[in-house]
Amino acid sequence: MADAPTPALRFGSRTDVGSRRERNEDSLVVSPPLFAVADGMGGHNAGDVASEVAVNTLRTLAPTIPDIDLLGRAVESANHAVITASREHGCEGMGTTMTACVIQGNKLAIAQAGDSRAYLLHVGKLQQITRDHSWVADMIDMGRLTPEEARTHPNRSVITRALGNDPQMQPDLYEITASEGDRLLLCSDGLYSMVDDGHIQSILARIRDPQQCAEALVREAISNGGADNVTVIVVDIMGTNVRAVKRDARRGKAWMIVILALLACVLGGGAYGLHSWVHNSAYLADDNGKVAIYQGIPDDFLGFETHWLVRVTDIDVDSLQPGTQSHIKEGLVVDGVDEAERLVGEYEQQVADDELLRENRDLGTSSSSSGSAATASSKASSTASSSSPSKRTSR
Ligand code: CA
Repeated sequence: MADAPTPALRFGSRTDVGSRRERNEDSLVVSPPLFAVADGMGGHNAGDVASEVAVNTLRTLAPTIPDIDLLGRAVESANHAVITASREHGCEGMGTTMTACVIQGNKLAIAQAGDSRAYLLHVGKLQQITRDHSWVADMIDMGRLTPEEARTHPNRSVITRALGNDPQMQPDLYEITASEGDRLLLCSDGLYSMVDDGHIQSILARIRDPQQCAEALVREAISNGGADNVTVIVVDIMGTNVRAVKRDARRGKAWMIVILALLACVLGGGAYGLHSWVHNSAYLADDNGKVAIYQGIPDDFLGFETHWLVRVTDIDVDSLQPGTQSHIKEGLVVDGVDEAERLVGEYEQQVADDELLRENRDLGTSSSSSGSAATASSKASSTASSSSPSKRTSR
C-alpha cells in the first residue's frame, strides 16, 4: 500500500498461539491506515495458509481512505485468492475470517466476514460494531440461545460466512464516524470466548497505552484458559474535530452545487431547470434524533433556501444500523420524496424486526435453558451448512 495521509495513530497489537493449540492460525495487518484480523481454519496447517493469503491480498489491494466499497472489493479479492490457493495447495475446505478496518481521522470503514469482531469503546462503554457470521449468533438472534449459553455451546466455532469457499461471498460493511478519544478493538474469537465483554471493557478503559492494553487483553485470555489462538489490535482514534470535518464537507458540497446549478441553468433553461431540480430532489436527515424527510437539497444556494421539511418520522436515528445512522446525520440524498418514503418504510420494518428479535430473545431467556438447547441442536445441521445467510451485507 502507498503511504497514507493519515494523522498519527496510536495503536498496539499482539497475537499469541494460546495455551492449547500447536500453531497460530491467526494473521493480522497493522499497517496504518489499514488494520485487520484473520482467523484461519482447516486441517493440516491450511488455516495458516488461508489467513496469510487473505491478509497479503488485503494489504496489497485495500484503499488508503475509508471507502467501504473499495475495502469491500479488496476483501472479495482476498476471498478469491484464498479459493485459488486452496485449489493449488489441495486444501479443500480451508478458509479464514476477516475483519478489516481503514481509518482516516475519525472516519472508519469496516468490512467483515466470519466471527472475528470489531468493537468501539466510546465514553468508557464497549459497543460491538460487527455482527458475527456464526451459528450461535443466529441462534441468539432467534432467541434460542443466550449470549452466556453461546459462549460454551459445542457449536460455537461454526461460522456461516468466511473467505475461501463461496466465490460470491460478500462481507458486511460498516461506515462509522467515531469521536476523538474512542478506542477501536479488532480481535479473533480467541479473545472474546475467553474474556467476557465486561472485562474487555474494563481493560480497554483502564490501560491507556494501546500496546500495553493489547498485551493485557491477550494475557487475560491466556490466564482464563487460552483455548484458542488470540489476536488483538487496539487503535486510539485521534480524529479531527467532527464539526470541522462537517463544515469543510459542506463547503465542498456547496461548490459542487454551484457548479451543477450553473450547468443546469445552461443546459436546462436557467431558473426553471434549477427550480425543477430542487423540487425533484429529497433527502433524509437527523431532526432532534428522529429521521426527517426533506424536499430539496441539503445546502442553500447563493443564500436562497433550497429545502423544506416534508415530515418528521417516529424513527429514532439511533435505532438504525451504524452505517445508516452516519449517512442520515450527514444528509442522505435520494431521488425524490417517493424514494425517501420507501426508505423510511424499510427503516420502520428494520426497527420492528429488531424489536421482535429482542422480544423473542427475552422470551428465550425466560424459558428453560434445556428447552432452548434441544431446539438449537435440531437446527444445527441446516443452519451450519448455509454458507451465506446474508444478514447485513449493505452494498
Ligand atoms: Ca479462532
